[in-house]
Amino acid sequence: MTDRQQLLQTFDALLQPERFRDYGPNGLQVEGAAQVRKIVSGVTASRALIEAAIAAKADTIFVHHGLFWHGQDGRVTGWLKQRLSLLLAHDINLIAYHLPLDAHPELGNNAQLALKLGLLAQGRFGEQDLGFMGEPEKSIGFEHAGSLAAHVGKTLNRPVVVVAEAQRAIKKIAWCTGGAQGYFEAAIAAGADAFITGEISEPQAHYARESGVAFIACGHHASERYGAPAVASHVAAQLGLAHEFIDIDNPA
Ligand SMILES: [Zn+2]
Repeated sequence: MTDRQQLLQTFDALLQPERFRDYGPNGLQVEGAAQVRKIVSGVTASRALIEAAIAAKADTIFVHHGLFWHGQDGRVTGWLKQRLSLLLAHDINLIAYHLPLDAHPELGNNAQLALKLGLLAQGRFGEQDLGFMGEPEKSIGFEHAGSLAAHVGKTLNRPVVVVAEAQRAIKKIAWCTGGAQGYFEAAIAAGADAFITGEISEPQAHYARESGVAFIACGHHASERYGAPAVASHVAAQLGLAHEFIDIDNPA
């Protein structure tokens, strides 16, 4: 058991949120119990995750996508009312870290996705250095974008969208988890042969055809399943807390 302040200081020290310009508040988003015993981690603070955390007897939820984003109009209605009601009624702390959780060099979403896919990070690119750039581990080279896309789909166990020239050899691979399709042009400029992210939008298909750089979209959720449990289990072990990752599947 530890107190909430100690837990928040430990997350802040690890993830360094002050280094990022983010789209919402990082750290404690909803205040619950002052004493913490069990953390449930997940990708998004959805109602299903909150209900699962209540069933798992957690007093703290740790997520990548919290409840509050810049640009919201501030009304507590609909889904926000439902989720907040559950958290407040059960005295559960909601802790969310967005970009700091993508960026952490060993435990973050980008680093953990690379571990899963067998990619070795050699550098960073793009705004706030959130994009990762590297090469496949020696044991798993890819002859072309099709074999890389097949490997990503098989490893993450979901269909991927790939737009690529059939024959281009793949050496340098860039990746950025979640909705990072806007990083594609920076990945092209940084010399990537392929770019992996969660989502594709209309323009990127054309950029891929016109640049010859492969674009692989493997799902926002699927690309961001690994950072939150890695960080939460690390911190839970450090402070002697219980931790459980609960995956609420999401086809997007
Ligand atoms: Zn995301």
